Amino acid sequence: MKPDILLKLYNTETREMEDVRAHGADGRLRMYTCGPTIYNFAHIGNFRTYVFEDLLRRSLKFFGFDLVQAMNLTDVDDKTITGATAKKMPLKEFVEPYRVAFFEDLETLNIEKVEFYPAATDYIDEMIEMIEKLMENGSAYRSPNGSIYFSIRSFSSYGRLSHLKLDELKANASGDNEADEYDKDNISDFVLWKAHDPERDGKIFWESPFGPGRPGWHIECSAMAMKLLGESVDIHCGGVDNMFPHHENEIAQSECCSGTHFVHHWVHVEHLLVDHKKMSKSLGNFYTLRDLLNRGYTGREVRYLLLSTHYRTQLNFTIQGLDAARASLERIEALVIRLHAIEETGESPPALTELMKTADHAFKEALAHDINSSAALAALFDLVRDLNVLADTGTLTRTGAERALHLLEKWDAVLGVLPLESKELEIPQELQEMLEKRERARKEKNFQVSDEMRQEISDRGYLIEDTPQGARLKKR
Ligand code: AMP
Ligand code: ZN
Repeated sequence: MKPDILLKLYNTETREMEDVRAHGADGRLRMYTCGPTIYNFAHIGNFRTYVFEDLLRRSLKFFGFDLVQAMNLTDVDDKTITGATAKKMPLKEFVEPYRVAFFEDLETLNIEKVEFYPAATDYIDEMIEMIEKLMENGSAYRSPNGSIYFSIRSFSSYGRLSHLKLDELKANASGDNEADEYDKDNISDFVLWKAHDPERDGKIFWESPFGPGRPGWHIECSAMAMKLLGESVDIHCGGVDNMFPHHENEIAQSECCSGTHFVHHWVHVEHLLVDHKKMSKSLGNFYTLRDLLNRGYTGREVRYLLLSTHYRTQLNFTIQGLDAARASLERIEALVIRLHAIEETGESPPALTELMKTADHAFKEALAHDINSSAALAALFDLVRDLNVLADTGTLTRTGAERALHLLEKWDAVLGVLPLESKELEIPQELQEMLEKRERARKEKNFQVSDEMRQEISDRGYLIEDTPQGARLKKR
C-alpha cells in the first residue's frame, strides 16, 4: 500500500528538495551506493554512510518503491595493492578476510542485503570497454608515462555537481594520489588506466589494449553502475567526501561514454566526526565496529546513535553519545515489556486511536521530508511518552497494547533498531519444556502431572494462556 505522502529528497546537484521518481520504463528505482575499499576493517564513520543508505533503502520500500541497488567493493586500488604486495599475497586472498568482516559488520548493524555487491576486479573488461570508447571519442588520451587520462576539458559541464568552476580546481584535485602530474595535459585530469609499474604494483596487473596496467578508482563505479543498473540511475549515494572528485569524475566519464544523463538524484551523507575532525583512517582517530563491541556496546546501540542525527548534519562521535543511545533504547524496551504485560480485556480508549494516528502521520512526514531520522525518532518518543501515560491510567487494554506494538513493528521495518524482542520476553527453555510436559499429561489425562507443571510454572512467575494456536507462556 502506498503511503499518502510523497517522499522528497535533497538533490546535491540541484540543491533542491525533489520528489523521488523511478525513471526507467519498468518502474523499478535504481540506486547505486559507493562501497568500501576492502584493505582493512571499515570504521564507524564509513558505517554512518552505510547505515543511512540502509535507512534510505528501507524508507524507499516503505514508500512503495520497487528497488534495485548495487554497492561496489573496491578490491583494487593503491591501498589493496600495497597491502597485498607487503604480505606477498594474491590480491583476492589479501582482501578476502576484510570482505568477510564487512558483511559480518553489516549484519551486526542490521543493514539489509542489497541486490548486487560487485567487486571491481570482476568488471575489468567493462572498464576497459569504457576507456576504449572514451579514447575513440576524444575524451581520453595516453600520457607519456603510458597511463590513460580523462580530459576534463572534453566535458563542458565538469564541476556541475560540486558547483566548482574548472578554473578554480586546485592542483592535483584528481584524487589519483599521483606524483607524476606533469604527464597530464591538465593538472585536474584523472587517471582511467594506470600503466603497470612493477616497483609499485609488483605482479598485480591486467592486460589491456592500452598495455598492462590497472584501472583508476573512479572508472570502477561508472562501469559497474552502468553494467548492473543501466546508463541512468535514479539515486546515487555516498559520503560528502565522495562528491569531489569521485562523483564529479563518475558523471564526466559516464556521460561522455553513454551520451545520456547518468544520475537523476545525488545524495551525500555528512561526516561522522571525532573531536570535531572527520573520522578517518589517515588521521588515526577512528573506531571500528569491533572496537565498540569489545567495549560492551551492541550493534543496535551503534546503529541507533548513527541514525539519531539527520544525514546532512555532521555528527560528533563520543562514548557518552553511545551511552545516551543505550538509555534511549532502554526506554523503548521498558515500554515494549510493559505493553506485553497488559492483560485487561475490552476495547481500548478512543484516545489511543487518536494518538497513534497523530504519531504515524508525524513519523511518515519526518521520513518524507528528506529522511529526517531525528524527527522520526522524536515522533517515536512522543508515542512512548503518550502510551506510558495511557498505561498509567489503566485504560490501555490488551487489544490496544497489541495495536501499539504492531505500529512499532511497522516503523521498525524502516528503522531496523527497535528492541521489540526484549530478552525479558524470552521464555526460558526449561519452562518451555514444562509446558510441553503439561500438554502431554493433559492429553493422557494425567491430571496430577499436569497440575504439578501448572503450579511449578506459576511459582516461577509465568502464566499459561490457552489460545486457539495452543498453550503459550507469558510473564506475570
Ligand atoms: P572509503 O573506504 O574511504 O572510500 O569510504 C567508504 C564510504 O564511507 C564513502 O562513501 C565515504 O564517503 C564514507 N566515509 C568515509 N569517512 C566517513 C566519515 N567520517 N563519516 C561518514 N562517512 C564517511
Ligand atoms: Zn564510487
